Amino acid sequence: MINILDEKVINKIAAGEVIERPASVVKELIENSLDAKSSKIEIHIEDYGKRLIKVSDDGTGMSKEDAKLSVLRYATSKIKDENDILNIETLGFRGEALASIGAISNLTISTKMPNELEGFKIEIEGGKFLSSMPQGRPAGTTIEVRDLFFNTPARLKFLRTDNNELNHIVDIVTRYGLANPNISIKLMHNNHILLNSPKNFSALDNIASIYGIEIVKQLIGIHFLKKDIEITGFISKPSLLKSDKSMQSIYVNNRFVKDDIMTKAIYDAYHTLLFVNRHPVAILNIKLNPETIDVNVHPTKEKIKFAENERIYETIFNAIRDTLLNNNLIVDFSAIEDNQKLNFENKGFNNQKFQTPNVKPTKAEIYTSKDIQGTISLPAEKIKRKNKKLPEIRLIGQIFKTFFLGETKNGLLLIDQHIVHERINYEKFMQQLMNKQIKIQSLLSPLIVNLPPKESVFLKNNLQDINQFGFEINNFEGNSFIVRSVPSILNKIQTKESFEELISDLANEKDLSLEKKQEEIITRMACRASIKAGEEISIPQMEKLLEELDECEQPYTCPHGRPIFVNLTLNDLEKMFKRK
Ligand code: ADP
Ligand code: MG
Repeated sequence: MINILDEKVINKIAAGEVIERPASVVKELIENSLDAKSSKIEIHIEDYGKRLIKVSDDGTGMSKEDAKLSVLRYATSKIKDENDILNIETLGFRGEALASIGAISNLTISTKMPNELEGFKIEIEGGKFLSSMPQGRPAGTTIEVRDLFFNTPARLKFLRTDNNELNHIVDIVTRYGLANPNISIKLMHNNHILLNSPKNFSALDNIASIYGIEIVKQLIGIHFLKKDIEITGFISKPSLLKSDKSMQSIYVNNRFVKDDIMTKAIYDAYHTLLFVNRHPVAILNIKLNPETIDVNVHPTKEKIKFAENERIYETIFNAIRDTLLNNNLIVDFSAIEDNQKLNFENKGFNNQKFQTPNVKPTKAEIYTSKDIQGTISLPAEKIKRKNKKLPEIRLIGQIFKTFFLGETKNGLLLIDQHIVHERINYEKFMQQLMNKQIKIQSLLSPLIVNLPPKESVFLKNNLQDINQFGFEINNFEGNSFIVRSVPSILNKIQTKESFEELISDLANEKDLSLEKKQEEIITRMACRASIKAGEEISIPQMEKLLEELDECEQPYTCPHGRPIFVNLTLNDLEKMFKRK
């Protein structure tokens, strides 16, 4: 027998979709306050949101009649008919949040419109109407949600630890705080202030009030307009990378969204500037024609659909890439956080001395690879840097046969000679690869190498991949290989030792996904072909390298994201010597 469920049950079921955890309530209530044009929103939480979630605003408020309607399912003031769905500018529009919340908690709504003398209050318990009465109060709305999930014990059981739930709440409030600089937003838990973002005049002040001033110092602004897509916001220099994505917020027409395509565009734009497992900070506001998106595809509206995925991807990619290319990304020593003082030990880089090659190269030939196998997932490096970015550097000399010291008008630069060369090799090689013209160099006397089993298996399995980058390697028997040519830009690899190191680097790389494989091969090649720590280099040689570096698109990091420069400012030095 089929039953038509009553409203109370329907709401309870629907609540399961929209209200997953205390933070979901916080989200819905803040969105309502924002839609009501509030300029001040205060959130009070007790017992991690399980006992009380209270959101007060100074927005438009509701009439007595509307307050009663607001807790019904599909009751909304934000759209009228189906045409309005095409052009939604408010955060809410489905009219289900208050009904859902009311079904699974004790809900009190108290509200007053500015032009009314008296306010109004209603109480709902587990979806049942309890009471209503007039109430004196200032204009605006206060919504109190007590004992969330009291009548849905299963949901209560699925909650994570208290701190985890509280973190979700903080994330939600942070996300709206970042998106609304001109609204004062405050979050309290058991009467402790967790977040306080007063009305700010500038977006940067606003970010500082949420993330702190240290973060702001390492952000660069974005302003980008391409046809009808406008992107503004901030991204971090590669010196500020986080261990997770929690400092990434993307807003599409003021709505916070999580979107894999947009996220991918961010990472692709940073590309070689990112250190492994490190994540940039990004706060992006994307404005586009509301008719080109569908916001009605996800119960909590966190996901949206775009009519033109590719154009969105490209615009974000270009906006970020452009910004990174046109800003000075040199790392200030004082900006390197402790947790970021990078640790490369497990990366397999070693700084062994490089031995002078005893093999003489012969003629260089051009190897045109019209059919490079597989897809290399590298964004074509289209955008050109407008100006050379490196400051004028007066080189002082080499220290520890590893670093160079240089003076600029902004401070004392420490320069890693190996990484400089690595970046140059990487970009030059990429250039040839993109143009499908890899120059190769035949070896006068071919290298014969005998590899250990693991390396040998790796090389056999990847021979084709490696050969298409300008090598000519054959497996002539068992674990023995013959190398007849190498890519000429990377001609340091023509020694047996460095060739073996390269193959060992690659064979020991843990998760060399197919997608990343070709790039990793190139990156490792660039590394092994570079000047090492321990090599003596003259100032003129280093000057020449810096000139070549300045031709690079990204003269700030190695292809794995390690910094090339660290800058000690005059200010840092003065502080160290207590001159200040
Ligand atoms: P939706 O936001 O999708 O319209 P809700 O259930 O969240 O649905 O809210 C229902 C209605 O209640 C809203 O459309 C709005 O008219 C009114 N409302 C809710 N919260 C507030 C508030 N803080 N201030 C003014 N009106 C509100
Ligand atoms: Mg709503």
